[in-house]
Amino acid sequence: MKRVYLDYAATTPIDKRVLEVMTPYMTDIYGNANSVHSYGREAAAAVDNARRTIADCINAKRTEIYFTSGGTEANNWAVKGTAIRYREETGRNHIITTQIEHPSLLESVKYMEKHGFDVTFLPVDSDGTVKPETLEKALTDKTVLVSVMTANNEIGTVQPVKELAETAHRRGALFHTDAVQAMSSMKIDVRDTNADLMSFSGHKIYGPKGIGVLFVKSGVKPDKFMIGGHQERTMRGGTTNVPAVVGMAEALRLTVEEMEENNKKVRALRDRFIERIGAEIPRIRVNGGMKNRVPQNANVTFEFIEGESLLLSLDLAGIACSSGSACSSGSLEPSHVLMAIGVPVEIAHGSIRFTFGKNTEENDVDYVVDVLKREVERLRKMSPLTSL
Ligand SMILES: *Cc1c(COP(=O)(O)O)cnc(C)c1O
Repeated sequence: MKRVYLDYAATTPIDKRVLEVMTPYMTDIYGNANSVHSYGREAAAAVDNARRTIADCINAKRTEIYFTSGGTEANNWAVKGTAIRYREETGRNHIITTQIEHPSLLESVKYMEKHGFDVTFLPVDSDGTVKPETLEKALTDKTVLVSVMTANNEIGTVQPVKELAETAHRRGALFHTDAVQAMSSMKIDVRDTNADLMSFSGHKIYGPKGIGVLFVKSGVKPDKFMIGGHQERTMRGGTTNVPAVVGMAEALRLTVEEMEENNKKVRALRDRFIERIGAEIPRIRVNGGMKNRVPQNANVTFEFIEGESLLLSLDLAGIACSSGSACSSGSLEPSHVLMAIGVPVEIAHGSIRFTFGKNTEENDVDYVVDVLKREVERLRKMSPLTSL
């Protein structure tokens, strides 16, 4: 049976070229990067190279790159590490974020709220973007940290992070951005954005799972989060995952090198998909603005349809996509992101996220549209909502 994967925002397959550079670090060059003998030194040299590659890709310094176990840990560290450290130092106890962040960021901020911080969750407009004026109004002399994601994982909208960072800095607050979902299609330049902290992940860019990076600008000093040995210049304990580190660096290098070409391809496929379903399936809408949006994302509401039923029908036809974020599917709550952009509850449930990637082909898109036409019609015939 034909299978089509349209869930690249949940995870991506490892690029074979990435796997190739990783493999020797699981078999032959297996030393602990902290050991002083030659096995350790070989591993440490590979980690050093990887750090340099990643730093070059995002215009950072080598010493500003910290490896973590993924985007989730990077977000936890950015929030908890800076909030605790700088409250101690400055007395500031207010955190600002948005209503549409990834759960790893939202839950970290809520955790700090439980530990005495004041928190503001900024609203977004119906396009899914945060206005710098909205941030400006929420900032106080007590604000220690502002965290706004670069690109949203559910609807793909891109935030004006450079302006937001500038706005935060004017009031003496630090600025963090979760760039996990942006890095596959946007050129990241930490100096230009001027964020103090940025989170990245390996498995959203055809690299391995379980590896990520927190960029920490020189001079910014978050508390340690993962406490242990002297790894990562004493800032992050735990034996370095050398194969994953090497893989993430190669994945990012290839991503940057092939970005223009991949974006062109992926955007064309996504646009073909939106155009075809728009023309061939009645009563649908695309969620989130189309202007400032990553090329791989289409989030679509099918009116009078239960999203979970449609997901299952698509799965039976070999098609993989998602209802919002992988982290919250399985729950009956409508997506917090769709709620934040004002999609009515009753139709938010009929929303599906299709995310395209570099292995997607035009005939995949056509197959999915054909199956969607058939299944949407079938489910609507059965739906009690259709008669409304
Ligand atoms: C996937 C994702 C994360 C989490 O990264 P992991 O490496 O899976 O922990 C964080 N933020 C966003 C926006 C994501 O899409």
